[in-house]
Amino acid sequence: MNKAAIIRERWPPVRRQAQQKRRHAAARHGIPGVSCQPHKISHQHSDRMTHLFRRTFLTALLFAAQTAWAAPSTAADTLDTWCNDLGKRLRSVNASDCRKRNFQIAPERTSGQRALVWQDIAAAPQKGATHGKTPRVLVIGGIHGDELTSVSIVFRWLNWIDEAAPRRYHWRIIPLANPDGLYQRPPTRGNLQGVDLNRNFSTPDWEKDAHTYWQNRTRSDPRRYPGQSAGSEIETQWLQKQIETFSPDMIISVHAPYNLLDYDGPSPHPLRFGRLALNRLGVYPGSLGNYAGLHKNLPVVTIELPHATSMPTLREQRAMWDDMLRWMEKNLHGIRGN
Ligand SMILES: [Zn+2]
Repeated sequence: MNKAAIIRERWPPVRRQAQQKRRHAAARHGIPGVSCQPHKISHQHSDRMTHLFRRTFLTALLFAAQTAWAAPSTAADTLDTWCNDLGKRLRSVNASDCRKRNFQIAPERTSGQRALVWQDIAAAPQKGATHGKTPRVLVIGGIHGDELTSVSIVFRWLNWIDEAAPRRYHWRIIPLANPDGLYQRPPTRGNLQGVDLNRNFSTPDWEKDAHTYWQNRTRSDPRRYPGQSAGSEIETQWLQKQIETFSPDMIISVHAPYNLLDYDGPSPHPLRFGRLALNRLGVYPGSLGNYAGLHKNLPVVTIELPHATSMPTLREQRAMWDDMLRWMEKNLHGIRGN
């Protein structure tokens, strides 16, 4: 399958097809001077009245065709497209399973006009319900578009999320925070503007430090460009809004390929999920760990998978998931309403 062709052709041909459709429609209706070639409308032999009539009729026809074409697609259409594209891009994602999920679409679009999608999974009613509220957990995959496994593993978790242990939490799942980066050929860490979204969060130190850090510590590495201003990117703004409105008790952010576990936020920190051992990398101006862990005092667990393009074994994936749930069980219950 030629995946590249499918992805690259998504937007421009739609516009070309629509233009051609309009021209074909005009030609079919016998409008003189309208052929299936662009810019061939000739009025050479028309008298003034006929010319006006034709113009009015043609304009109305074009307008009708354009209106029909430009009608906003339904949410279901958008989600189908989102799932189909992802199924073509990632071998591990099954488009038909994806379409069956209750994903929601944000009103915002990325600058590449891609949808931003999430799913809420409420907790199951608990027997002998304890005091306090259900802990809320926000999962973010694919904030770096070239870390393909960080999206795939979120879909794996979605297969396990209906089991008893995870059903004790209210989950908000964002499988792909940087769709524009993922669909670039080759995929890019940053978004379409070349901004590293994980350096673009509105942290208090951003103004003072983000650009200095980028220039001095990364030698202006384009892969780590923090953007023109704090929270300048649509995707970052949207993620910040998700944190504000969903008000999570914990955030799990998935990355690759450093093969470790990182943590920002209040103690106690986790030590190991599966083979991933805690190795705290520190915080950066504009990073999610800085924004939500340091300044909002939320537990932010960063899972760095060992490879960006090949998944850990199923056994290893499961070990990470089970250890993560055990840590949550110990540390999240009772944090609300106490
Ligand atoms: Zn990353």
